[in-house]
Amino acid sequence: MNKPYPIIGLEVHVQLKTKTKAFCRCENKYGGIPNSRVCPVCMGMPGMLPVLNESVLNDAIVAGLAFGSQIASITKFDRKNYSYPDLPKGYQISQYDKPICSGGFIEIEDDNGTLKHINITRIHIEEDAGKLIHLEDGTNNSYVDYNRCGAPLLETVSEPDIRSSDEAVKYLKSLKEIFEYIEISDCNMEEGSLRCDANISMMIPLSDGTEINTPISEVKNINSFSNVKKAIEYEIIRQVEEYHKTKEVNNGKNKITRGFDDSKGITVFQRSKEGESDYRYFPEPDLPHLEITEELINKSKLRLPELPQNKRNRLENQYGITQYDATTLSADKKLSDYFEKCCKYTTNYKKVANFILTDICSILNTENISIIDFSVSAEDIAQLVNLLSDGTISSWIAKSVFEKMRLTNKNPLSIVEEESLLQLNNDDELDTIVIKVLSENQKSVEDYKNGKDNALKYLMGQVMKQSKGKANPVKTTEMLIERLK
Ligand SMILES: [Zn+2]
Repeated sequence: MNKPYPIIGLEVHVQLKTKTKAFCRCENKYGGIPNSRVCPVCMGMPGMLPVLNESVLNDAIVAGLAFGSQIASITKFDRKNYSYPDLPKGYQISQYDKPICSGGFIEIEDDNGTLKHINITRIHIEEDAGKLIHLEDGTNNSYVDYNRCGAPLLETVSEPDIRSSDEAVKYLKSLKEIFEYIEISDCNMEEGSLRCDANISMMIPLSDGTEINTPISEVKNINSFSNVKKAIEYEIIRQVEEYHKTKEVNNGKNKITRGFDDSKGITVFQRSKEGESDYRYFPEPDLPHLEITEELINKSKLRLPELPQNKRNRLENQYGITQYDATTLSADKKLSDYFEKCCKYTTNYKKVANFILTDICSILNTENISIIDFSVSAEDIAQLVNLLSDGTISSWIAKSVFEKMRLTNKNPLSIVEEESLLQLNNDDELDTIVIKVLSENQKSVEDYKNGKDNALKYLMGQVMKQSKGKANPVKTTEMLIERLK
């Protein structure tokens, strides 16, 4: 009998980085003094009229094009009604039956490494709600900040095509990459500009060869990739156990909403899910239907950059770097742009890729910064790689030159010249050091002769030490072996 498997669909909210909010002129920005970025429109005062921000519409069309969606010829807005303290209007402006984009897909590798499409049902425009702040100062007071009210969101709804927690994470990473490439959102999960709801149910095979589907859980507002993975894995186990206890199956009406408890790594029951009828969707009377012209779509096509998948293939072919390096570089648009800038000043493409992905990325990770905040220019990195490749400096020296470049902003060649760090290639000078090291380390010489290969590494280290890191490592090894014969 087959094993139970999950059926997963994701709903992802991405906050757009437009200058102003979706339907008013308030500044659209994260944080700030609570309730300092509000106006009668986004506060839902009686008689106020929303006006659609043109940039929001344009961004939504670009997103649709990037995912291969159909752009609607007519689109409209609807009110989604519910009552919650962070929603002063008592309804959210969203899109119900005529979303701006339908269809499209994201390509991922499934768990067996085969390419697979995760289909997109729709992408629609909606506005964000405010934020509740619960003080933990013993007073139990709660406050509400409406700065985020009316911020523009795009909600991307996938078909239930995802079959594992790993596939879900790959889908999310890919989606985030594409949103970053088209530069319409920061996709900053910590600041909530990318949030994910996961709809999960299980297919459980029965002994008679049929299978049943468990009730769907919608796990709301998961704020990191690792939590998406944890929430799904928790639900997979919970739902199978629950089925064996209750025998309850999905009847189309028994969907529930759960939250993810980050500290315990579990999902917790919140409420039985509202059906669409609970939201009493109706057309937003204050916003007109919109006709999307071919002309507008063609204009948006001009904004489409090279997308991640295409860039990955191009980097691999154009620069002859490995598929792995091309994938890692292109996962961050700005990092791959930096790589290509370096390549203007060198033909050592593989070495540049390697230097960026190891030495530079390790600094970016430690300092928690992006490549755009990295102080060394692409031209200087290319020069350093060239000095290393043509044997002017050793890899040992390259590391210390790189550190000095970061501290002083000088270019590598001037650092090498000022501190006379040129690689030592002169046979006579090298030989003198080798002879000295061998005579001072008789024990290691014996060890080497008795077959201990580590002794050679030790002797090599001693030569490096005496030459202050300047000895040419290839030559030194050859000379050591020759002398040890
Ligand atoms: Zn406003």
